[in-house]
Amino acid sequence: MGALDGKTSLVTGASRGIGRAIARRLAADGSLVAVHYGTNATAADETVGLIRAAGGEAFPLGAELGVPGDVERLWDAFDDALAARGVPLGVDVVVNNAAIGSSGPLTKTTAEEFDRVFAVNVKAPFFLVQQALDRIRDGGRIINVSSGVTRIALPETLAYSMSKGALNTFSFTLAHELGVRGITVNAVAPGIVDTDVNADWLRADPAARAHAASYSVFERVGEPEDVAEVVAFLASPAAGWVTGQVVDATGGSHLGAAPLRS
Ligand code: NAP
Repeated sequence: MGALDGKTSLVTGASRGIGRAIARRLAADGSLVAVHYGTNATAADETVGLIRAAGGEAFPLGAELGVPGDVERLWDAFDDALAARGVPLGVDVVVNNAAIGSSGPLTKTTAEEFDRVFAVNVKAPFFLVQQALDRIRDGGRIINVSSGVTRIALPETLAYSMSKGALNTFSFTLAHELGVRGITVNAVAPGIVDTDVNADWLRADPAARAHAASYSVFERVGEPEDVAEVVAFLASPAAGWVTGQVVDATGGSHLGAAPLRS
């Protein structure tokens, strides 16, 4: 018996990186998983293939977020996919993981970039959850993937950091509203994780990687699976008494005033 046997989960941005690891982990716990992606259908198919090869159940679900009509298209496709499989309509676990970064400090950020970051990272999860309310079953789980930059100042990604701060506020406020239905809402805040988004500097530059590793008390960069484990716990029945929290999954990054070792 898996902790999520008979459950249905949606993981946004599950084609690659942290989302893929979350999708695989929830499927390993017994959930049917909707593997959402934006444009990379090939990567989403790979995630689904990995899940099926491990004996799990999943299907791909494409919908670009941050554009008009995005969440309507996503939920329509989700409903259609469940109906096609003869699975009861509804969802038990919603993981808002898809996001984009921003690339400059205050003085370099354009209005267009700011709007795009907030459209994908804040507006899309907000309305995705709004439209999930009639679908999510009592006792369900909403998990928003935030970031350690909500507590560690990183001026180079100010707009992105602000968008994740909004997600934290969204999480605890929604937890208050949905508690009456036994639905928990939490945020998980990863530190630096080895995914495509960091590939150009983290994988190419050993010195940069060593520096990034020094942020964590464990002296390594995070792996997507490190974060997926935390999400799986929050998705499980065992976490039913945890809600409205931002769970730090940064490997103890910046616990002190400076890296432990230089
Ligand atoms: P990633 O490797 O860049 O993957 C991003 C995923 O989101 C992909 O599945 C992508 O789909 C999807 N996506 C991006 N923009 C989208 C859009 N406009 N519409 C629909 N889907 C979209 O990202 P990651 O590094 O795994 O990050 C996952 C989450 O962790 C994000 O919320 C991120 O902010 C957070 N996080 C990451 C780190 C880190 O160091 N990596 C640190 C802290 C927090 P396609 O494959 O179709 O493009």
